[in-house]
Amino acid sequence: MNVFVIGTGLIGGSLALDIKAIHSDAVVYGIDQNEEHINKAIQLGVIDKKAYIEDLKIANIVIISVPVDAANEVVINVLDVINDDCLVFDVGSTKLPICNAIENHKKRTNFVAAHPIAGTEFSGPTAALKGLFVGKTNIICEIEKTGVVFQKKALQLFEAMGFSIRFMKPKSHDTHIAYMSHLSHISSFMLGKTVIEKEKAEKDIFDMAGSGFESTVRLAKSSPAMWTPIFKQNKKEVVAALQGYIDNLSGFKSLLEADNFDAVFEEMKNVNKIKVILNGLGKK
Ligand code: NAP
Repeated sequence: MNVFVIGTGLIGGSLALDIKAIHSDAVVYGIDQNEEHINKAIQLGVIDKKAYIEDLKIANIVIISVPVDAANEVVINVLDVINDDCLVFDVGSTKLPICNAIENHKKRTNFVAAHPIAGTEFSGPTAALKGLFVGKTNIICEIEKTGVVFQKKALQLFEAMGFSIRFMKPKSHDTHIAYMSHLSHISSFMLGKTVIEKEKAEKDIFDMAGSGFESTVRLAKSSPAMWTPIFKQNKKEVVAALQGYIDNLSGFKSLLEADNFDAVFEEMKNVNKIKVILNGLGKK
């Protein structure tokens, strides 16, 4: 089986490792604009060989795992070259733009629009992890536009990797993910910024950085090259989510300024119900 991974970083590399573990006959080819990543991926055994877009004619499966702006162009080039039996899926963190980009392509039925809800703050092939997707959700959009044979092939593969599958409309995905993922990243980046600015004046502030700060600011280590196109593509939903967050921060600040500590207590007590919500989802 010939598997092509375009973008041999964290997500593409992790998928490659899982496919090699599931299918012993798989030969994994890597395509990447970053020569160092390709070489590293081969050295680490994440992929087997370097390849080019023209080689996709022999592909059985193509995975598109590049930043979401690049993915919209790459997906057209891929669908133009593949054979009739080849399954193609992407992993991008936005879904409406890519679904729109391929809406009228003659090979639309070969394509599955996917978003694995899994990852870390690290990038590149050294960040790739075998088993990253066990117990994680893979959101699939517009499954009805994928041919039945390709639906079956993709779902079998995702289930073998340990994913649970959730189907959504692309617009709905982009709205919800703005709150559940994109807002957390902005919040973490801006928390990091606020503390870095303060640190310039008070050199020893980082000596006091406890695990609360570290865990909240973890996502601020994420790649700007991956996140800028996500915020660009999902700007409307992200701005709406951000406005809600800014309103809540301003409200909390006003309560403090007004010495209204009963209300401060109540605000936090109300949000404590997040524990129940997360427990219900099997998360701590
Ligand atoms: P990554 O580790 O940075 O890997 C992406 C790789 O693609 C890099 O080697 C990059 O090269 C290369 N690339 C960029 N544009 C390309 C192009 N036009 N053609 C060929 N290669 C190209 O990124 P990632 O975290 O795996 O993210 C990949 C995709 O997964 C994104 O669409 C993201 O939205 C999605 N995703 C990410 C996460 C996460 O937690 N990270 C979770 C779910 C989904 P350069 O180094 O030169 O840029």
